[in-house]
Amino acid sequence: MKKMLQFVSLKKTTPDKRKTGDRKKDFHEIYKEFIKAKAEDQSSRCSQCGVPFCQVHCPLHNNIPDWLKLTAEGRLQEAYEVSQSTNNMPEVCGRICPQDRLCEGNCVIEQSGHGTVTIGSIEKYITDTAWEKNWIKPIKVKKELNHSVGIIGAGPAGLACAEELRKIGYQVTIYDRYDRPGGLLIYGIPNFKLEKFVVERRTKLLKDGGIKFEQNFEVGRDKSLHELKANHDAILIATGVYKSREIEITGSNLENIFPAMDFLTASNRKGLGDKVELFDNGTLNVQDKDVVVIGGGDTAMDCVRTAVRQKAKSVKCLYRRDKENMPGSTREVANAIEEGVEFIWLTAPKKFIGDKMVKEVHVNKMKLGLPDASGRKKPEIQENSEYNIKADIVIKSLGFDPENLPELFSTPELLVSRWGTIKIDLDTMQTNMDGVFAAGDIVRGASLVVWAIKDGRDAAENINKYLKEKAIEKSKTKAA
Ligand SMILES: Cc1cc2nc3c(=O)[nH]c(=O)nc-3n(C[C@H](O)[C@H](O)[C@H](O)COP(=O)(O)OP(=O)(O)OC[C@H]3O[C@@H](n4cnc5c(N)ncnc54)[C@H](O)[C@@H]3O)c2cc1C
Ligand code: SF4
Repeated sequence: MKKMLQFVSLKKTTPDKRKTGDRKKDFHEIYKEFIKAKAEDQSSRCSQCGVPFCQVHCPLHNNIPDWLKLTAEGRLQEAYEVSQSTNNMPEVCGRICPQDRLCEGNCVIEQSGHGTVTIGSIEKYITDTAWEKNWIKPIKVKKELNHSVGIIGAGPAGLACAEELRKIGYQVTIYDRYDRPGGLLIYGIPNFKLEKFVVERRTKLLKDGGIKFEQNFEVGRDKSLHELKANHDAILIATGVYKSREIEITGSNLENIFPAMDFLTASNRKGLGDKVELFDNGTLNVQDKDVVVIGGGDTAMDCVRTAVRQKAKSVKCLYRRDKENMPGSTREVANAIEEGVEFIWLTAPKKFIGDKMVKEVHVNKMKLGLPDASGRKKPEIQENSEYNIKADIVIKSLGFDPENLPELFSTPELLVSRWGTIKIDLDTMQTNMDGVFAAGDIVRGASLVVWAIKDGRDAAENINKYLKEKAIEKSKTKAA
């Protein structure tokens, strides 16, 4: 019942009757109403069960039962203090963690069939209130340290690491190739899931706390990794993964077929007030178009839901497995269905049809065969099942791989895995290069914000340890 409250503003129309063009709502309302009125009530539903599976399954091991108790008692400032002690961006995680797979999915009350305590919404509420009440202040360093750390990448991993190191007193500079900090929080994840002011106020707070940001600075183009290393005592690589996976079929080179990130970045930039030529000239604006999105992950869900908000004529999502085997969050899929997206499961593109522009996607129906090496049932083509789907634009969302960092950074010696992710020593988070650490998606492969924050925090701890040990070694050598 509680889960349903989250969708209260959209409940009036049943999913099967909704059409893409029908929506009149501002989708921002979905979560807000509920949180304001019910945070204390919801928190008091926590049974303080003593077996905090929610906490265990939160990658940050947030002390959830404690801040729920404090919230239930109306002690919000204390709840905020507890919450922020383990999480650098609780209001971000509260908004966009796939809670159904993490904390909430493991809530004992959920397990007993009574509906989870809505932990994410409460986490968001606590920290949004802290911002409103001005409880959140920039870092005040007690003692400035001489050591400096260079961080490549201003995504959640880089930002979390920077904050933790700055709190200790290190001189921290973040280098990022984009014009704004935030990584995928700013240009990947759509505004309707994570409002951009939420990211901007966080990065401003870090600047106000003395962290330096060098935007439009691409390591590899503006400086090699070795050059950067010469300017710092330690380096963190937190560059994320950005190489879109391709579909190699006939017609892939037709115009109007775009990678998901092109579409989402254009949309996010427009939301931020930028001039975006490809959007303004209609190329990446899908209003009144028949949109086909290929893929079944969270990025695909962001694409279909963005297309709905741009008032597309129709939005179809093609996925080669069935609904149960979709990699995306079930909540996101439910939201997309609720908003009128048509899912065409067990379907894969065979070729794109058109002259210069794509006009149709020729597809095969699929069936699920025996499990493959990954343990998932392998999709197989159903004979004589081909047909065409009309498309004015196709958005490819098949996942991301790392760029070739050893080549880009001019460091062929930097060790990477066979997938291109950076290899680190799991105990120290150090790469095979002395003083160079790595964290976030570039180590894990495409993952989650909460894991990037966790990695950033762990990297800060390891970098601090490394720099302290170096300082001790240096003083010993001097004394000798
Ligand atoms: C569309 C989309 C939606 C998502 N939705 C969710 C969600 O709802 N919930 C969730 O938990 N996760 C979501 N994720 C995943 C999440 O965004 C990532 O796991 C997370 O941002 C990874 O953080 P990161 O710091 O490792 O990398 P990123 O956020 O990718 O940041 C890396 C930064 O490094 C910079 N960089 C890269 N190369 C260089 C270079 N050579 N020089 C300088 N700077 C460089 C980039 O510009 C970028 O700013 C989503 C991802 C996508 C793509
Ligand atoms: S950080 Fe994510 S997983 Fe952890 S408590 Fe918050 S919403 Fe749940």
